[in-house]
Amino acid sequence: MDTISHGLWGGMAFGRKNKRLFIVAFLFGAGPDVVAFGWEFVRRILAGSGWHGPMVESINSYIFSLYNITHSLVISVAILLCGLIVFKSKALPFAAWPLHILFDIPVHSTRFFPTPYLWPFATPFFDGIPWVTPWVFFLNWAALIVLLVAWKVFGNKKVL
Ligand SMILES: [Zn+2]
Repeated sequence: MDTISHGLWGGMAFGRKNKRLFIVAFLFGAGPDVVAFGWEFVRRILAGSGWHGPMVESINSYIFSLYNITHSLVISVAILLCGLIVFKSKALPFAAWPLHILFDIPVHSTRFFPTPYLWPFATPFFDGIPWVTPWVFFLNWAALIVLLVAWKVFGNKKVL
């Protein structure tokens, strides 16, 4: 799924209490992709080569290592639990991170960055429908827009 959608889903699921929590949840929702691909994105823009998504054949191996770490439910849930122990309910926006991984599993095929959700353990990859498939992409954004508008119109109590 695209990084902005991940941020918005995270914010809407775990950051609806106030603006600051929304931003924190947005960052945790978008973070797994930003950490894995952010530097490569900046590097390609600066090099003038543009960004057409990370092409598998030109991907540096460090990106795969970062992707494993940031897309592991084992790691993200462990950090969420530590956060909940230390910061109590204030750490709830951290949950946008494992939510990102759950959303990624069905929308990545085994040919392009399947989600290593059990890393560092062996993961039986799920062969999902790539999120760039038009109906998947537009269905996701339609759902996001409907929920964002409903949230704006009805407030917190009646939505989600
Ligand atoms: Zn991702």
